[in-house]
Amino acid sequence: MIDVKQLTKRYGGTTAVDRLSFQVRPGSVTGFLGPNGAGKSTTMRAVLGLDTPTSGQALVNGRRYADLAHPMRQVGALLDANAAHPGRTALMHLRCLARTHRIGRARVADVLDQVGLASAAHQRVGRLSLGMRQRLGIAVALLGDPGVLLFDEPVNGLDPDGVRWIRQLMRALAAEGRTVLVSSHLMSEMELTADRLVIIGRGRLIADTTVSELTDRY
Ligand code: ADP
Ligand code: ADP
Repeated sequence: MIDVKQLTKRYGGTTAVDRLSFQVRPGSVTGFLGPNGAGKSTTMRAVLGLDTPTSGQALVNGRRYADLAHPMRQVGALLDANAAHPGRTALMHLRCLARTHRIGRARVADVLDQVGLASAAHQRVGRLSLGMRQRLGIAVALLGDPGVLLFDEPVNGLDPDGVRWIRQLMRALAAEGRTVLVSSHLMSEMELTADRLVIIGRGRLIADTTVSELTDRY
C-alpha cells in the first residue's frame, strides 16, 4: 500500500505539496485528481524516491523507497521521467533495467507481450509513436511484477483504443489485488477508471472519497 503522511514539498518559494495525507489500499483503482499544478506529480515522485520531501513522508509498504528491498519488485511507475534513451531499442531498454534490478530476462519478453509491444521490440525508442512509448513506460512499471503501481496522467495524448486499453489494464491490475494510483486532471476520466478518489488542489487534500459518492453511480 501507499501511505502519504503530512507530506510537504517546497521548491524555493513554491509550496508544491502542503501537509498532504492519504492512503491507497490494495484491490482498487484510486484516482488522484486535481488541476494542473496541484502537486500530483510531485507526490508521486516523492513516493518513488525521486524527490526528497521537505517534511513528512511518502511510504510504500511501510518504508521509504530508498529502504525497500528490490524496489522495482514492490513499486512500478509510469512517469515522464521514464523517458528512455531514444537511440536504444525497446528491448534493450527493458533488458538494461531488468539487469540493474536483478529481474529475470524472461520477464522482459512477458511484459513486452503484455503491453502489445512484442512486434516493436527492435524499434528504437525515438521512432516509437507516443502511444507505443506510453506502452513501453507501462512495461517498465510492470517489469518487476510489483504490487503497487503509479500511473501519472497515463491517457494523455492517446487515441481512444489506447485509452480503453489503459483503463482495462488498471482495472485488471486492481482486480489482481494490486494497489493502483492513477493521476488525472479530468473528473470524466476518473469516473470511468477509479473506485476511490483523492482530490487535491494547491498541494492540499480537498476530498478523500469514492466515485459513487460524487456521482449517481451505485
Ligand atoms: P501536477 O502534477 O498536479 O500538475 P506538479 O506536482 O507537477 O503538479 O507541480 C506542483 C507545483 O510545483 C507547480 O506549481 C509546479 O510548477 C511546481 N514544481 C514542480 N516541480 C518543480 C521543480 N522541479 N522546480 C520548481 N517548481 C516545481
Ligand atoms: P539507473 O538505471 O539510471 O541507474 P534506475 O534503474 O533506478 O536508475 O532508474 C532508471 C529509470 O527508471 C529512471 O528514469 C527512473 O525515473 C525510473 N524508475 C526508477 N524506479 C522506478 C520504478 N520503481 N518504476 C518505474 N520507473 C522507475
